[in-house]
Amino acid sequence: MSETTWLVLRCTNCGQCSGHRLAKGRCPHCGQSFSREVEVVATVSSTDALQMEVALANTPEPLRAELRERMERGLKRSAREPDTSANALFGMLRQVVNDVGELTADAVLGVLQRKGVEQSVDEVMAQAEGEGLVLRCGPGRWMLLE
Ligand SMILES: [Zn+2]
Repeated sequence: MSETTWLVLRCTNCGQCSGHRLAKGRCPHCGQSFSREVEVVATVSSTDALQMEVALANTPEPLRAELRERMERGLKRSAREPDTSANALFGMLRQVVNDVGELTADAVLGVLQRKGVEQSVDEVMAQAEGEGLVLRCGPGRWMLLE
């Protein structure tokens, strides 16, 4: 990993914050060149964190806690993307069980095609079995365990 750091600088002229690699340059809000006295509000190591710190620094104090919470939730959600899409997939599978509570290979295939999933029915269901989500109850038939 690189050790790139980013600075959140507060412009002494307009008071707005922006992200920079170095404690110099220009304020993108008012065009003022940063002086030696420019305030370094925060030092961060990723552009994600930079975006968040800049947005926070430009948010009035009373609203910051709420904004920070919302953003941290957003970051967590995007980090867990594969997991949620697997959950969405099984949510859809749950909707296509037949009257006896079983999933058929045809029903699963229909869902995979609708979702644009490239894995085969067998691959997906083997993974689901491995995770304890389904139980194979015959050739091309599964029972949902949840
Ligand atoms: Zn400025």
